Amino acid sequence: MKHHKFERTLVIIKPDGVQRSLMGEIIKRYERAGLKLTAIKMTKATPKFIEKHYTLDPEWRRITGEKSIKGYLSKGLKPPSEDPFKITEVVLKYLVKYLTSGPIIVMIWQGAHAVAIIRKLTGGTEPLTSDVGTIRGDYVLDSYQMTDTDGRAVRNLVHASGSVKEAENEIKHWFDKKEIVDYKLVQEQILYDVNMDGILE
Ligand code: GDP
Ligand code: MG
Repeated sequence: MKHHKFERTLVIIKPDGVQRSLMGEIIKRYERAGLKLTAIKMTKATPKFIEKHYTLDPEWRRITGEKSIKGYLSKGLKPPSEDPFKITEVVLKYLVKYLTSGPIIVMIWQGAHAVAIIRKLTGGTEPLTSDVGTIRGDYVLDSYQMTDTDGRAVRNLVHASGSVKEAENEIKHWFDKKEIVDYKLVQEQILYDVNMDGILE
C-alpha cells in the first residue's frame, strides 16, 4: 500500500467563493493543516463538463436523490418527489447553472488523509447546519429551504471529493498529468519523518 502521505483530493472554489474574495481564506485553511498543493488553475467550465464532474460516479444520481429525500423527512417536510432521480435532475440543473456562472479555482491537495481532512475543514453540505469553524459554517448562511424557494443550488463555496476513489476520478477529469507538480515541502520532514532527525546541527 502507498504511504498515507500520497493521498490526494480535488477541491473546487465555486464562483461565489471567487466573487466573495475568499480564495485566500479557503486556501489558507487547507494549507495550514499541512496539506500540499500540487495543482491549481482558474477556469470557466462548460455545462457539459460540470454535468460530467457530478456524474462520474454512475450511482451519484441515486445517492444524491436519496440523501435529499432523507433530509426533507428528517426536517418533517414533504420531499418534492418520491423518486430520487427526479430530485437529482433538478439539483443537477441548478448545480450546472451555479458552477458555470463565473470563474472557478480547481486544485489538487495532497497529504495524509487528504480526503477526510479536507472534508472536515470544509464542513457539511448545507451551510445552515455546517459546523462552526468549518469553511461552510463560517462564511455562508445558505439553506435548502431558501434554495428550494428561490430555485437554485445551495451556495456552499467549495466542492471537495467525498472519497479516495471519487478524488482520483475527479483529478483525472480536471487535470492532465503534466499539470500536476511533484515536489517536496520542507515541512514534510516534520509531518512525516519517523525520527524527526536532521533538526539539530
Ligand atoms: P458535497 O459533497 O458536500 O458537496 O455534497 P454532495 O456531493 O452530496 O452534493 C453535491 C451538491 O449537490 C451539493 O454541493 C449541493 O449543491 C447539491 N445537493 C446535495 N444534496 C442536496 C439536497 O438535499 N438538496 C439540494 N437542493 N441540493 C443538494
Ligand atoms: Mg460530493
